[in-house]
Amino acid sequence: MNADYTPMAVAPLSTVNWREAVKLVYLDQVDVLEYYADWHVHSPSVTLQVPSVLVSRNYVKTSRSIKFNKTNLCIRDEFTCQYCRKLFDQKGLTMEHVQPRSRGGKTSWTNVSMACSPCNTAKGNRTDWKPIKAPYKPTYGEILVKAKHLPIYIPDAKWAPYLGWPPHLVHVRNPNVNIDIMEDS
Ligand SMILES: [Zn+2]
Repeated sequence: MNADYTPMAVAPLSTVNWREAVKLVYLDQVDVLEYYADWHVHSPSVTLQVPSVLVSRNYVKTSRSIKFNKTNLCIRDEFTCQYCRKLFDQKGLTMEHVQPRSRGGKTSWTNVSMACSPCNTAKGNRTDWKPIKAPYKPTYGEILVKAKHLPIYIPDAKWAPYLGWPPHLVHVRNPNVNIDIMEDS
């Protein structure tokens, strides 16, 4: 987390791996707020409890730009096919070029809408089919607000109070964190 105790990013969630976490603690760049209860790393000479939640000592300016990818496009279009208005999960949706690629249409925020496979196929290279809402580049804030209607999966329940996420949408999926070997350096 940033020095103001909010996640550096939530779409996707800002994380570091355990090696980086241990290194940041060693370098005094972060304070540890929570440790994993059941995750230790061992070297021949030391045993360390792996940190779970870290807060930066210094405020880090974050970019707040939204990555152009299928997940964020689905969030922008609220998992709704922009042609038949039906709801789908991410797998049921495809990236549809409003101006077809064969006619020079770009793969960009302003030319891609989410469509179900049947609608995508039916539209094909037609240009007289328009999406419900013309595609646009969303702001970080918009994606964040819309994402908070979706479930989030975290590896440690201790993260939950720091996320600012609706509690009923937070799911803990504990990876196998029991054994890890740290090399002595
Ligand atoms: Zn459709």
